[in-house]
Amino acid sequence: MGFDNILGNSRVKKILRLALQKNRLPNSLLFYGPEGVGKRSLAFALAMAVNCERRRDEACGECPTCLAISGGRFPDVQEIKPSGQVIKVEHVREMRQFAYMRPMIGRKRVFIISEADKMSEDSSNTVLKILEEPPLFSHFILVTDNPHLILPTIKSRCQVLQFVPVGREEITRALVEKGCREDRARIISLFVRGNLEEALDLNWDEVQNVRREAWTLFLSILKPEKPALFLRSYGFAQRNLIREDLKITLEIMASFCRDLVLMKERGDLSLLLNPDYGEDIRALENVWSLERCWEFLRRVDGAVYGLAKNLNMSLIASAFYSLLGEDTHDRDNLSRF
Ligand SMILES: [Zn+2]
Repeated sequence: MGFDNILGNSRVKKILRLALQKNRLPNSLLFYGPEGVGKRSLAFALAMAVNCERRRDEACGECPTCLAISGGRFPDVQEIKPSGQVIKVEHVREMRQFAYMRPMIGRKRVFIISEADKMSEDSSNTVLKILEEPPLFSHFILVTDNPHLILPTIKSRCQVLQFVPVGREEITRALVEKGCREDRARIISLFVRGNLEEALDLNWDEVQNVRREAWTLFLSILKPEKPALFLRSYGFAQRNLIREDLKITLEIMASFCRDLVLMKERGDLSLLLNPDYGEDIRALENVWSLERCWEFLRRVDGAVYGLAKNLNMSLIASAFYSLLGEDTHDRDNLSRF
């Protein structure tokens, strides 16, 4: 798997390619950015490029070394990951022992520290000591979704590379290449927020189920006379969906609302995000003002952010609940969920 097999993040790939061409790859790198955008895959591709038998600026993806690395069978490339919720110091100490030894068969040893934000304090300090006396034959790639949890002293010793979400067009293309119908691929690309891995994992029947649930929830918020329906749907969603699914549900509701805005503003209907719900959405055209639609979209953003920060789900529900008619507030009901 060469760099080109990893979608998106062309800026990062360019920097790495240049460094490889000039034989100036830093000893330690920190890859950070949102979940599912290829940080770990690129770390492995880089480990291959460093050791590839055929190329120096890229991984050919086909030589025995590249294949062994992608299969996790190459002794000079190791991944360190959390066991449970934490990267234990004994694993980092073990890494340190190997880091100062010549590679066994490759040109360089590469250590990929996945979810590096989960290093214990001792682990972080051990890694810092290694980075302070960088071994000659080893590279370290720290990978994280949460760079603010990495010691600043570690960060300052790494070349820090930021990954960005994969574009919707690229996600759509990747899904189509995998055999997904284009109209479906477009819908999936809507609500994964640039998370390619998530997009590739979804199956269409599940997507349709979640969309139907999202539609029911959306209707219940839209119709002010139906707070009970909202509570029932939300309670249902909360009991049956894990946090991640709830995030997707929120994203889909936002896409329905964007379509509603498009219709209200007499926009080009070929731009509808959910063309298959077009008629249903049209029927709601006069239920909400534009202002209310924008307010709803702001709240979805707030809720998605809240979910990422592990906010209490009922707080998130109450943010939507207050969008329902003023007279129908009954916050006590929320405590049941
Ligand atoms: Zn190769």
